[in-house]
Amino acid sequence: GQAALRLDLGPLLEQVGTGKESLSFMRRRMRRLAAQWASAARRLDSRLRTRSRQQKRILVHVGFLTEESGDMFSPKVLKGGPLGEMVQWADVLSALHVLGHSLKVSFSVKDLQGFLGVPPGRGSCPLTGPFPFDLVYTDYHGLQQMKQLMGLSLKKYRCHMRVIDTFGTEPAYSHEQYATHHNYRSNWGYWNLNCRQYMTMFPHTPDNSFMGFVAEELNETERGSIQRNKVATMAVVYGKEVSMWKGKDNFLAILNRYMEIHGTVYYESQRPPEVPAFVKNHGLLPQHELQQLLRKAKLFIGFGFPYEGPAPLEAIANGCIFLQPRFQPPHSSLNHEFFRGKPTSREVSSQHPYAEQHIGRPHVVTVDFNNSQEFEAAIQKIMRTKVEPYLPFEYTCEGMLERVNAYIEHQDFCHPDAPFPPVNASKSWPGSPPSPFMLLPNTSTLVWAPNVTAPLCWPPLSAMLLLLAPEGLSCVRACQEESLVCEPAFFPYVNNLEALSGLQVQCEALEEEVSHLFPAVSLEEGECFMQKEPLLYSCAGKGPKLRRLCPCRDSIQGQEALCRDCL
Ligand code: UDP
Repeated sequence: GQAALRLDLGPLLEQVGTGKESLSFMRRRMRRLAAQWASAARRLDSRLRTRSRQQKRILVHVGFLTEESGDMFSPKVLKGGPLGEMVQWADVLSALHVLGHSLKVSFSVKDLQGFLGVPPGRGSCPLTGPFPFDLVYTDYHGLQQMKQLMGLSLKKYRCHMRVIDTFGTEPAYSHEQYATHHNYRSNWGYWNLNCRQYMTMFPHTPDNSFMGFVAEELNETERGSIQRNKVATMAVVYGKEVSMWKGKDNFLAILNRYMEIHGTVYYESQRPPEVPAFVKNHGLLPQHELQQLLRKAKLFIGFGFPYEGPAPLEAIANGCIFLQPRFQPPHSSLNHEFFRGKPTSREVSSQHPYAEQHIGRPHVVTVDFNNSQEFEAAIQKIMRTKVEPYLPFEYTCEGMLERVNAYIEHQDFCHPDAPFPPVNASKSWPGSPPSPFMLLPNTSTLVWAPNVTAPLCWPPLSAMLLLLAPEGLSCVRACQEESLVCEPAFFPYVNNLEALSGLQVQCEALEEEVSHLFPAVSLEEGECFMQKEPLLYSCAGKGPKLRRLCPCRDSIQGQEALCRDCL
């Protein structure tokens, strides 16, 4: 049947059920944002009206909240434990429900088993017949549980999987054989999925899809009252767990000279010793009360942990300025315990790189906290700076609905020719000869828009601009520097000689190899390298002495995941 937008979250709340603090937290959030989802749905509806959408059968299995995975999270919901994942799952469920798809929701292996139609009591059991769902949204724990239930038949159905993965998974870490041989091992297993099946919390690398979450939006009345009620001398510290306050006395003392400091640190009976007496600690607050606090505060300040959570976006959306430490050198899986074993080599340049790079001043101020003069000057400046509440479109309900809908309608990893059409590296383009070169203004990078068509490709190839990255740079960076976004879906169409000659590269030798760095050119040797393993096409890959061949695309202002022709 057809999918019709749903404005009532009631039936979804029933599906989520009760019985655990984590589920209650998610239900409270869904209820609180219900009106916002509904009005976003109306706006999207008026834009999509002409288009009919198939209703998809979707299973949502939240692995990390199952008893079978140990569920470390639920008992800590009211004790300062991580909430970002629950924020995101609540929003994923809301978005899928609002988009009108047929949803089954599971928080236990028993329910999973029932939904998949695996007979109870048996161990690993191959599924026979067609897979009962078009799409499965789960996480790494959930994948493991499905493997235990379905055995090897999971492999047959893996194109239906979508994995919610906060920090992201890069191709080099995802391909089992390659990761093992090239020291890209991780703690998260190797599922040989197309990396675009992993969906992240922030747009880290376009190798993954960007799921995101939402923050509260303000109407005009609320914006006005926020402006009137802001207290220029009020600061809220980011960190609901005492460990995040350890060793920060120095900064707190400086900040205390200028502002009244508020905290939302969980505590049992007494004030935790890590939180100085001059801090007004409210204890862990319900989400809506935290929002109220943020509406009054001028400054939201992070001390380095947690990384990349939702709270800074909520603070900025409520008119705060977010002050955070720069990490020099950047934190990564190579040098920091938290990221060790995570399937990414991403370098985290501050506590919240999205806030730093995608929002920036005046809403976000990133400084070296080890330099107390710089730190103090930043506080003084923030007190004098006026800002408006700000929320990037991609974190509004309408933005999330638009994006998730586009993925559901267009991303197909099951079609035999999608997403990797058979392309022969040494073959030239079908059809027309290379179109003229384009020189982007203010840059020496040669950008070429190849004239190639492929009806199955999404994003559509019309959005492609191809470039040769400066030596040593990843395609993520190289595209970014031209205000473009690397698009891994395009790699198969440019993994050939024709594309290189379009960029005026002359190859003295040509190799086809299995490497997450290819296609690329080694200028020293004049050697060109093509990619042999489609699962290793990677925007994130970079290597010294290599100039990578990078397919980029445009993006909609405020919606990086989508290009203008994507909708
Ligand atoms: N939060 C809350 N009460 C508080 C502090 C935070 O409800 O006292 C919520 C906040 O609104 C945010 C969520 O906790 O949506 C996650 O916050 P954070 O950025 O700290 O990320 P985490 O480390 O929990 O994933």
